[in-house]
Amino acid sequence: MLGQVIELIEKHDRFAITSHIRPDGDSLGSSLALCWILKGLGKNAEVIMRDEVPHAYTRLPGSLDVRVVEDIDREYDAVFVIECSDVTRPGIPSLADQFVVNIDHHSTTALFGNLNWIDATAAAVGEMIYNLAKAIGSRVTPEIAGCVYAALLTDTGSFHFSNTTERTFKIASELVRNGAQPAKLSQAIFYNYPFAKIQLVGSVLSTLQRDESGRIAWIRMTREAMELSGASEEDSDNIINYPLTIGDVEAVAFFREQSNSTYRISLRSKNRVNVARVAEEFGGGGHTNAAGFTIQADFDQLSLDVIKKLREAVESAPQSNGREIKPR
Ligand code: 5GP
Ligand code: MN
Repeated sequence: MLGQVIELIEKHDRFAITSHIRPDGDSLGSSLALCWILKGLGKNAEVIMRDEVPHAYTRLPGSLDVRVVEDIDREYDAVFVIECSDVTRPGIPSLADQFVVNIDHHSTTALFGNLNWIDATAAAVGEMIYNLAKAIGSRVTPEIAGCVYAALLTDTGSFHFSNTTERTFKIASELVRNGAQPAKLSQAIFYNYPFAKIQLVGSVLSTLQRDESGRIAWIRMTREAMELSGASEEDSDNIINYPLTIGDVEAVAFFREQSNSTYRISLRSKNRVNVARVAEEFGGGGHTNAAGFTIQADFDQLSLDVIKKLREAVESAPQSNGREIKPR
């Protein structure tokens, strides 16, 4: 609950903020914004992550101060865990021994924190952090505004997804008034790719296939394709959106080969096709329209299994007139 979070912040001094491995725009934007808020209140605060800040987010205010850690190595009064389904998602082993504040907008999140503040109506955790800033009486600085804007921008798919509401634009408007620079942030996040990424996009898109109905499409990235392009795993993020731009396509799978015959699978869908259910059948999870899982399997069999489940999901989806594409 927000009230308890505020009370905790007011009573204590030393805080860390962390989020899931391979952080994204919402997890980083929200973490950095919260860090700025805490520092603005005169607290000791830092963002700690298991993984480095992805290139796309290195221009967010404060991102250079994110400390990459293997485990908790300092004393904190509490650790904020941003948008994680469980306490292991940050990849920080002794996190469970800390006083944990779980902040998330996924309705499926385990209540693993000592405090849990969950708001499934928030478009992004960034929106919750913005509400916290206002509730605790922080001045919304350009740094806070920019970080929250980045969280909203990325988790709404640049305001394309169905979590984009009047409230989203109202908050975005307030953020711009407080110093967030939309064009500059979009440029930093979406027009700042390394050359190798676009080469990788070309190579991965050349693997595009669809089923006979044309409603399901899939793409694959091998280790070889990654190595040939010189791209990183992060550079393959978002490639899944291209097949989803095909008008007839309702569900997409992206098979990313990791080391030792493990595949990381991303699933995306439109409307009411529930890919979270599909991911859960393979041990993962997510939202209705964006989900994923990691599995050790032979590609040929795995792809058959996943496509079969996607077909069931597409065929059993309730009809919907609007195009609803939900965020991460
Ligand atoms: P992505 O395809 O971008 O890796 O993940 C999309 C969404 O699926 C994430 O925001 C998260 O909600 C969910 N997701 C992806 N991989 C996993 C996983 O291994 N476990 C769980 N519980 N959720 C996942
Ligand atoms: Mn999010």
